[in-house]
Amino acid sequence: MIKVDNVSKNYGSFTALHSIDLEIGDGEFIAVLGPSGCGKTTLLKLLAGFMGPTEGTISMDDTLLASAKRVLPPEKRNIGMVFQSFALWPHMTVAEHIKFPLSYHPNKIKEGKKELQERINEVLKLVGLNAMADRYPSELSGGQKQRVALARAIAPLPNLLLMDEPLSALDVELRMEMRKEIQKLHRETKASIVFVTHDQGEALAIADKIVVMNQGRIEQIAPPEILYTRPETEFVATFVGKCNLVKGQWQNAGFVPAIDSKNVWPDLGVAESFKGNGIYPVRPEQFQLTAAEQDGVQGIVSFVQYQGHEIHYTVEVGEETWTIHESVFASRFQPGDFVGISLKNAPVQQKSLFTR
Ligand code: ATP
Repeated sequence: MIKVDNVSKNYGSFTALHSIDLEIGDGEFIAVLGPSGCGKTTLLKLLAGFMGPTEGTISMDDTLLASAKRVLPPEKRNIGMVFQSFALWPHMTVAEHIKFPLSYHPNKIKEGKKELQERINEVLKLVGLNAMADRYPSELSGGQKQRVALARAIAPLPNLLLMDEPLSALDVELRMEMRKEIQKLHRETKASIVFVTHDQGEALAIADKIVVMNQGRIEQIAPPEILYTRPETEFVATFVGKCNLVKGQWQNAGFVPAIDSKNVWPDLGVAESFKGNGIYPVRPEQFQLTAAEQDGVQGIVSFVQYQGHEIHYTVEVGEETWTIHESVFASRFQPGDFVGISLKNAPVQQKSLFTR
């Protein structure tokens, strides 16, 4: 178990991380998600031991790894790292990339031991590169290079695998494939993983738990489904998936959208405590479009985008613009059509959006 306790990091007078608290359980797969510059790489560098915190501590089980006074260097920690740029060595073959960390890592295997070749073969097999052991990086595709980077990181059986945007240099198809490979590696190696990404789809798909960061602070830590259905801040609601933030009023019976006072939307269990102006968060797939003469809030379709599996509508509703995703099997509408909009599913539960 790794514990990040009240960690802050300054670069000169700029504070890149503010009082971060985080626990990484044994074998847990954590995605750190956030926009560019929010401090993801800084957090990863602190976990690796490339630098120390300005304040706070990082410990593994009961051992102190870093404080403002003392930092255990990366080579003394049982960690593996994978970078966005692969960072392969041009003069080393695939097998040599796997062998190298096995000779300097805390879990090293001595040169000449039978186990060394066995471990190299085992890792090559795990990442599907058995046939490429003698190739150099220049003779590999992007996906194969990324597999070498993964193989090098997992070879010494690290407790903790740190990955900094490991898939962003790959094309979309290959990213999808490599996500599964990484999930498989996680199952087989049982190492804890901290996976940095700015791609929310990737974080939702791959992790047990997502840490959402914004401007050097943690906004929320939760499993993917909880994060999507119960975001705790407006930032999380809009950064993780699309979310319509409908303006209106909380009243005793529920929420009355500003655009049409004849409608009352279900109480999210908060109407009692939140009276007055508020926001009602609705995911695009939770709205339903109908012909305008039926019940519901009325709007005008401004854009229609065909996506294959669904249709994405942009609808002007008074002064607001809502995004609505409908199944390809639902009634179709065109730009300029008047439509009725109702709620199809229970909207997202959200703690702090209700007053604004
Ligand atoms: P990206 O997704 O773009 O890689 P990030 O979330 O990983 O961003 P960091 O690299 O951790 O962000 O940087 C966090 C903030 O700290 C940024 O504002 C960055 O400009 C600043 N920063 C990072 N390294 C240094 C440094 N060595 N000196 C000064 N400021 C730095």
